[in-house]
Amino acid sequence: MPDRVKVHSGCKDQAAVSLRRAEPPAPKCRCKRMMDWDEANAMVNEGFAKWVVTGRTRGVEEVPCRLCARMDAQERKTCGNCAGVGVVSEPRIWDTYNNDIVLITDGDLGFKEKTPRVPTIEAEHIGYAVLETGIKAKQAQDRIMEYANLIQLELHKYGATIYLTGKDGKRQEVYLEGKKAPPNKAVGHAPGTIKFKDGSTNKSWYWELEGEDNDWGRAV
Ligand SMILES: [Zn+2]
Ligand SMILES: [Zn+2]
Repeated sequence: MPDRVKVHSGCKDQAAVSLRRAEPPAPKCRCKRMMDWDEANAMVNEGFAKWVVTGRTRGVEEVPCRLCARMDAQERKTCGNCAGVGVVSEPRIWDTYNNDIVLITDGDLGFKEKTPRVPTIEAEHIGYAVLETGIKAKQAQDRIMEYANLIQLELHKYGATIYLTGKDGKRQEVYLEGKKAPPNKAVGHAPGTIKFKDGSTNKSWYWELEGEDNDWGRAV
């Protein structure tokens, strides 16, 4: 990791690439601003920026069927998600990055991130799942379970911890670790902190405000 990285700001082309609305490489631009890597990384984690994408490939990846994990051998043969094969092909996009970032704003540039979309279940499927019997019912039930899984994965993108659920409906081990809550401490400098000629600030004015004990979401 470099110490300093380039920051694209107000850079529509670069933002469009990172939001997957255009293909890399983005046209040349005049952005020159630099920033410490740590700060850039924090901005990406907070959702204000994205890493600059330099290349993109598309393909499919064979992944283990998520439904089968909860089935016994007999049930697995008729799994509605993978038809008993145990693996499913999922479309994948692989982006490659350099260490630069592009700022994403929701202002007049129209870069606002879209709310996530999750497939819906049609009335027909619910009908099959409840009213039919045999394989047809089971496959409809499997499909509904798979939708439930997709919703969970979508929530995970926003930081939720996802647990496996047993047949009894009880929570089991962690399947996907979520985002950690901030540690119980942070130093905030008062607005209007004095900056002296030598560059130092008045460090006696601060308060600790982060973490679940201190931060209840109020404006500071
Ligand atoms: Zn730029
Ligand atoms: Zn399966």
